[in-house]
Amino acid sequence: MATGGSAHSPDDSGGLVLVLNSGSSSVKFAVLAPASGERVLAGMADKVGTPETELRVRRYPDHVVTEQLPDGSYRAVISRILGHLPEAGLGTAEDREPGQAHLAGAGHRVVHGGERFTASVLVDDEVVAAIRASSHLAPLHNPANLAGIEAVRALRPDLPQVAVFDTAFHQTMPPRAFRYAVPEEWYTRYGVRRYGFHGTSYRFVSERAAALLGRPLAGLRLVIAHLGNGCSVAAVRDGVSVDTTMGLTPLEGLVMGTRSGDVDPGVFAFLAGRAGLAIDELDRTLYNASGLLGLSGVSNDMRTVEAAAAEGNERARLALEVFVHRLAKAIAGMVVGLERLDALVFTAGIGENSALVRSQVLARLGFLGLAEDAGANERHGRDTRGRISPDGPVVAMVVPTDEELMIARDTARLTLNRPR
Ligand code: ADP
Repeated sequence: MATGGSAHSPDDSGGLVLVLNSGSSSVKFAVLAPASGERVLAGMADKVGTPETELRVRRYPDHVVTEQLPDGSYRAVISRILGHLPEAGLGTAEDREPGQAHLAGAGHRVVHGGERFTASVLVDDEVVAAIRASSHLAPLHNPANLAGIEAVRALRPDLPQVAVFDTAFHQTMPPRAFRYAVPEEWYTRYGVRRYGFHGTSYRFVSERAAALLGRPLAGLRLVIAHLGNGCSVAAVRDGVSVDTTMGLTPLEGLVMGTRSGDVDPGVFAFLAGRAGLAIDELDRTLYNASGLLGLSGVSNDMRTVEAAAAEGNERARLALEVFVHRLAKAIAGMVVGLERLDALVFTAGIGENSALVRSQVLARLGFLGLAEDAGANERHGRDTRGRISPDGPVVAMVVPTDEELMIARDTARLTLNRPR
């Protein structure tokens, strides 16, 4: 067996962390050092749950292998991922040599923590039961997240595990921001309220933005736009979430790659009557065939939509316009919960890379004191500590997110401090 561990050990803080994002048909993973963020292994399995499951593993810096896994269960996938640890230079806690890296814990992304989870937690039987009890809120995601946790438990019963929830960061929202104006019983009986998502990203980005601005989080009032395949905006005041655009599900709010974001809830009754569409068909369409894809007819991918718009495609141009208009409106709306804006932060695929979207959003928000430094924006704020606005009291900035690193840090912290 190859001993291909790196010449130096990135394991300088009590061990590396396996971060797992077990989705409904894919498993993404990374093995990284929580202090530095240095990756040792990363990869993804897709078509999980089918005999065509394929696992791609990258051993840093650039060794890539692809494996077919006819037993496409979560357990088989995670077993293979763990099987790659020795060749990446990791020993188990028991057999490792002095100075050799080892795995300190596994951190799992869990989509929905309901009202029960307000922070990341060490996994035990009670936590597993509570995640299961929240599954009706995220029927596609939570059972898959749990399958990942159960697989690691079965394969490495002694490895501490941590659950990190997309919703937890938003549990600080006040009722005026999280309640819907629907009958009380919908909330008390069924949990119908706004939860919000992308919390792990917001937590990472708000800390990083404060560091880049050289100001403590306490006292900072940020609007953060997380613009990936899913898009949302959050208002972060003194380091806590006070409002966000996603709601009971990740369908509410902004225009996204394939998701509609806000539509008139009356559309359900209207189309059920006019087109004879069933609820699940309407739901699927709003999730998978709407957003940039539905508007442009070209793609769900912002790069492709931007390119088509630049070539004169009218529908792509309109898709961009709607995307930007709705985003600017949402950002302005978030300032209500902040009462003052210190910085607008762009993050995730579109936020970090689309100078065009950022420029168009800033052009619409001059009344909030925002402006664009075109050169800095073109360079994505790389040589200006993220800043893409001219000097002034309200800053616009780009801050790359790293949800895996945030999960790794939570895992390391909770693992080191756990009762033994
Ligand atoms: P996910 O939400 O799946 O993590 P990402 O954060 O990677 O996704 O964001 C994906 C989105 O980012 C896609 O719409 C993609 O087109 C967009 N994106 C990536 N690079 C660019 C770019 N250079 N210009 C415009 N959009 C980009």
